[in-house]
Amino acid sequence: MTTATIERIETRLVDLPTIRPHKLSVATMYGQTLMLVKVFCSDGVVGMGEGTTIAGMAYGPESPESMKLAIDAYLAPAVIGRDATRVQALMAHVGKLVKLNHFAKSALETALLDAQGKRHGMAVSELLGGRRRERLPVAWTLASGDTAKDIAEAERMLDARRHRIFKLKIGAKDIRQDIGHVAQIKRALGERGSVRVDVNMAWSETQAAWAIPALADAGCELVEQPVASAAALARLMRRFPVALMADEILQGPESAFDIAQCHGADVFAIKIEQSGGVFAAQRVAAVADAAGIELYGGTMLEGAFSTVASAHLFSTFANLQWGTELFGPLLITEEILTRPLDYSDFELTVPDGPGLGIELDEAVIKRFTREGLIKVTRAAR
Ligand SMILES: [Mg+2]
Repeated sequence: MTTATIERIETRLVDLPTIRPHKLSVATMYGQTLMLVKVFCSDGVVGMGEGTTIAGMAYGPESPESMKLAIDAYLAPAVIGRDATRVQALMAHVGKLVKLNHFAKSALETALLDAQGKRHGMAVSELLGGRRRERLPVAWTLASGDTAKDIAEAERMLDARRHRIFKLKIGAKDIRQDIGHVAQIKRALGERGSVRVDVNMAWSETQAAWAIPALADAGCELVEQPVASAAALARLMRRFPVALMADEILQGPESAFDIAQCHGADVFAIKIEQSGGVFAAQRVAAVADAAGIELYGGTMLEGAFSTVASAHLFSTFANLQWGTELFGPLLITEEILTRPLDYSDFELTVPDGPGLGIELDEAVIKRFTREGLIKVTRAAR
């Protein structure tokens, strides 16, 4: 029986530039901040995890800074000195001491799973029962804010065989303008690319009821989180020939059950961070499957570590009808891994090495680490 205790935990904030401004209805992103957590165990194994948000605190209640503080002050002291090989028991212990803080918990749990996989020479997907697929379809988000630029970007992605599913971020502009934007892009791409939209809760129910049929006419196949309220989304269900997806309202297994119970969505955008970690996201998927709700592998525009943790989980899902949007690492200008991820033929290959199966390029990360903010929590002697 392997035993290993957690000796110390290191957190840092890494500020990375993005390839272009990323415009959502809630904010425009000009860069991405990764909160990286390293767990050092007594058997010499080191696990890496990541917490990342969309546009600081514009999207949800946590920020990279708040995750770091939560780990430094609460999560790390709760797990230091404990058995690193009992990941679920450790996270249950953390859950008793720390409410919510889903993103911070996901980052720590990812690091523990990475360490556990390395310890046993198994990929995280194998720890979860084994993958059902080696590669995952990956959508790309067009969010430059300009229709012509978005079409040119989509054409480049099709030419490079990197993406053929396109998600358009709308909701910031006038509805008619947004619908025209979607229609023009779909017309330009034709059958070569599918088009979906994410409204990020920007519309009222009446606006959504007016806009969704027009989006369906424009050739849009999926509308993500058009309204903020779960009740309103449920009322919009089954009124249109287009699938409706829940994202922001899906905050873990309990909310998944609530939405499923009131037939509140056709599709769930599952995210490990928003769910509260890999195991919580696994339970969200179980609720969806049981309720006949289809699945989509979502992203918080994470860097490589959370993206790959998500990929390991999504590779084990029985159903993944809508593919994934695990393109976060491609939105960042810097390569933070010693060996880049394989995005080719419209898909991402799930790494198969031990743990997450990827390695941080320490030199690159050092250059972008926010000064004076590396914190190490260790056991009291
Ligand atoms: Mg979304």
